[in-house]
Amino acid sequence: TTEGLSADMIDDIARKHYPMCMRNMHTNLRRDHHLKHFGRLTYGLFLKVLGLSLDEAIVFWRKSFDRITDDKFNKEYRYNIRHSYGQEGKRANYPAKSCSQILQGEPSSEHGCPYRHFTMENLQTTLLTMYSSQGLQSHHLPEIADLVKKQSYHVACTRVFEITHSMKKGDGIGEGESVTHPNQYAARSMELEK
Ligand code: SF4
Repeated sequence: TTEGLSADMIDDIARKHYPMCMRNMHTNLRRDHHLKHFGRLTYGLFLKVLGLSLDEAIVFWRKSFDRITDDKFNKEYRYNIRHSYGQEGKRANYPAKSCSQILQGEPSSEHGCPYRHFTMENLQTTLLTMYSSQGLQSHHLPEIADLVKKQSYHVACTRVFEITHSMKKGDGIGEGESVTHPNQYAARSMELEK
């Protein structure tokens, strides 16, 4: 968790540090000015664990849903954001979803794991769009595709981390560890930048 994250830092962090699932949700949110329920829930909990405070989360979502009125935002979304932060209902400290929860969840190209839930063609195009500025090139794609065909989704994601962080194959996200949680991916990426 990073202290002092603010809503206006998220676009930059998304571009530099997000795994593909969260990058996809962030991109969809920016494109559509909206995200469906499961996307809001999954992405919202990720942002909480990333270090976005409740106040900044409300700023973030309010600015992201910029085509609705304050009234609609307050009625339909504010409660759920506060709920995710344990400030409503039974006030639970909800954890962010792990890779296995996302992988086993409802198949969705909006809020699922892209390695599992995208078509191969869409996966490859999107990988290049998202990560070519960090060194991912088309010659890396066959290797990623092979891992996906073997249903080794975490391994594919880990390999993308290695490629985009100039790490060797087998380094994983550090010390050979592989990706098991989107927040672990983002936290490690942010640490490496320091
Ligand atoms: Fe996200 Fe995990 Fe899938 Fe990577 S393997 S894209 S972190 S759900």
